[in-house]
Amino acid sequence: MELIGRADVHMHTNISDGTGTVQQMLDTAARLGTLDVIAITDHDRVSASLWAYQHRHLYPFDIIPGTEVTSADGHVLGLWVTEPIKKGMSLAETTAAIHAQGGIAILAHPFEVTIAPHTLRRYFSQPEGLIQLGIDAVEVFNAGALTRGCNWLAQRVFDRVALPQVGNSDAHTPDCIGTGYTRFRGSTADDLRESITQGWTTAEGKRWPVITYLKLMRTTIQWNRSVYLETKAPSTRPTLT
Ligand SMILES: [Zn+2]
Ligand SMILES: [Zn+2]
Repeated sequence: MELIGRADVHMHTNISDGTGTVQQMLDTAARLGTLDVIAITDHDRVSASLWAYQHRHLYPFDIIPGTEVTSADGHVLGLWVTEPIKKGMSLAETTAAIHAQGGIAILAHPFEVTIAPHTLRRYFSQPEGLIQLGIDAVEVFNAGALTRGCNWLAQRVFDRVALPQVGNSDAHTPDCIGTGYTRFRGSTADDLRESITQGWTTAEGKRWPVITYLKLMRTTIQWNRSVYLETKAPSTRPTLT
């Protein structure tokens, strides 16, 4: 079976912690010319992704609406999702919310060093448990992985599990688009969805250039600070006593 299509369905804009506007990301992907399907997946937000989806007719590739949900058990990509999903829910609740919108739930970078140690241990010792929790596929290659070992481990662990595998760039800068990608059967968004459902996918790519991590340090610090302030912000709702 030939897997001709290329999809990169995990990337960020300046609506979350990326540096590029949605238009810069889409224009760069168009210039790159190697991708058949893309999705903008900002952390817990959908506005840039919806803008991209609404303007899909202007671009030479298919665009899927989506988001990267911050669950209590790591990041989950929700593809074909158009409403934001509450962060901090369990993996089962998060996948159920994605499915309720008719979407597909992909566990992102399962062995990234930033994930809680107990969650890492659970994914490692019981990777097949993800199927019961509603996960549809696993991102075994993430081009932004901090160490080579994260992807190596994901590939090794999930090769033993009956879950489709995908690869993505997780681009936070326009120049990283397409560094990681999924090969699939066909070339359209519908083909990608069928390929993920059937397991006709492979993960490929190479990691971001080192300079990108340095460029991103400031953006990431600012983003974390703004999210922190958002959580700490006093409630604007009147308190009824
Ligand atoms: Zn993530
Ligand atoms: Zn991401």
